[in-house]
Amino acid sequence: MTAALLDAFGRVRDTAEQYMDERDRAGLGWVEESVTDISIHKGLPDVRVTQFNRREEGAVGADYLWWWLDEDTTECFGMLVQAKRLNQATGRWTVDIGHRGGKQLGDLRRTARYYEVPAMFAVYTGGLIFRRGLPCLHDKEPNCLGCRRMAISIISAYQIWASWESPVDTATMVLNDSIPLENLVDPALPAEAVRDLNLRAITSPELRSFLLQGQRGPREVAKRIFAAVSRQRSISFSAAIAEPMTIASEPIFPVVPRDTGHYPNSYFEHFLRGLRTNPPSYIRDIQQNRPTAPEIADRVAGVVVITV
Ligand SMILES: [Zn+2]
Repeated sequence: MTAALLDAFGRVRDTAEQYMDERDRAGLGWVEESVTDISIHKGLPDVRVTQFNRREEGAVGADYLWWWLDEDTTECFGMLVQAKRLNQATGRWTVDIGHRGGKQLGDLRRTARYYEVPAMFAVYTGGLIFRRGLPCLHDKEPNCLGCRRMAISIISAYQIWASWESPVDTATMVLNDSIPLENLVDPALPAEAVRDLNLRAITSPELRSFLLQGQRGPREVAKRIFAAVSRQRSISFSAAIAEPMTIASEPIFPVVPRDTGHYPNSYFEHFLRGLRTNPPSYIRDIQQNRPTAPEIADRVAGVVVITV
């Protein structure tokens, strides 16, 4: 992971923070889609965004497909990302992922399955003005870098699946367990071994090495995201079911444990299906400026390709 990529996401976050602060200072507030629109292109050239014309107004909401791509190895990691925001209601922090009685969350999961990637949220937690009531969990300096990086925080839908009916519980999970976007790519942050509950039952040397050894590029991003859900799985009470299952398409790890924990499906399959040996054809179409197939362009607001 390069320092240039960390800088690119730093520019995105910096721009998002300034916008949220400007709007809050004027008493106008802000919405997720606008924060994305004014900031995402600041990551160029390392972070490239393609936006589609929305054929059905409102149908695709704020969902973007992100692909982390290593051009040398062609390995890549994809994820579907829905933008959400931190809010306040009667003095408590909230994140509402339960729109339309949970239908929006179900739609996100179905779209993620269609693309064979994990479902994620990018939560905007505000600029300096909005988050001034949030305690610092880092170095206790006002306006510390750790707090500022939290302005764009990444968390998987699986991690907050069980709490979707409670925006307060969801916000607590987001504030405690999300990963600041920049921390996904910060070369200074050490890679930790993932001591998953199913580790003993995994016989594939490649998958064991992925979990236990340091990784690079798309594998490293996928591992940092997987580590968070694996940690959550390890503290839940249900017993592991380690029988293997197979992932379709071109996965780097075709056979993974079937264990579901308290998630809707195997969490290994849900996350590692996004880690592929080759990018899907629509990514090559975008890179070569060919038109994007309608079945892709109709389902998401855009595609973000990140070269790692
Ligand atoms: Zn802090």
